[in-house]
Amino acid sequence: GSKIRNAKLVLLGDVGAGKSSLVLRFVKGQFVEFQESTIGAAFFSQTLAVNDETVKFEIWDTAGQERYHSLAPMYYRGAAAAIVVYDISNQASFTRAKKWVQELQAQGNQNTVVALAGNKADLLEAREVQIEEAKTYAQENGLFFMETSAKTATNVNDIFYEIDANVSSI
Ligand code: GDP
Ligand code: MG
Repeated sequence: GSKIRNAKLVLLGDVGAGKSSLVLRFVKGQFVEFQESTIGAAFFSQTLAVNDETVKFEIWDTAGQERYHSLAPMYYRGAAAAIVVYDISNQASFTRAKKWVQELQAQGNQNTVVALAGNKADLLEAREVQIEEAKTYAQENGLFFMETSAKTATNVNDIFYEIDANVSSI
């Protein structure tokens, strides 16, 4: 196709939830067991062909550390989409994800499409966050929701396609 759209996207969520790993999987098709912590934020871009269009995602992968919190609005303001990531094997990361959703709803742009990603879906034995709990929370807050695994690639491309489908409708 010849049409190119740009979509600015930000990943938010607790340290260690797997934000960088999701980006690495999406952008490079890779996974590493010992992903280095992100300092501040990192930028990536990746295109996705959708029907006769090409969407170019401009991705800001944020650190998640409290000490970088004040930088977050720079990344989520003006973003077409945000992926709020938690780790299904870590209840505290789900609590943190809900805080990000609240902040986005209070301080962010009304038009930003927000997706909730329950990452590390491969760690079923260690699950602490039930899928029903997250699904209900997402429905109540107008987010769309998927469990993902950067490790196995489950639902990683899918979440970006889903975001794109929603972004283009606004
Ligand atoms: P970030 O701080 O949110 O960017 O998290 P990272 O991407 O740095 O990931 C933190 C750790 O979790 C790393 O050791 C990753 O290898 C691991 N990790 C990330 N995604 C997954 C996943 O889907 N499954 C499993 N089992 N481990 C993951
Ligand atoms: Mg990171």
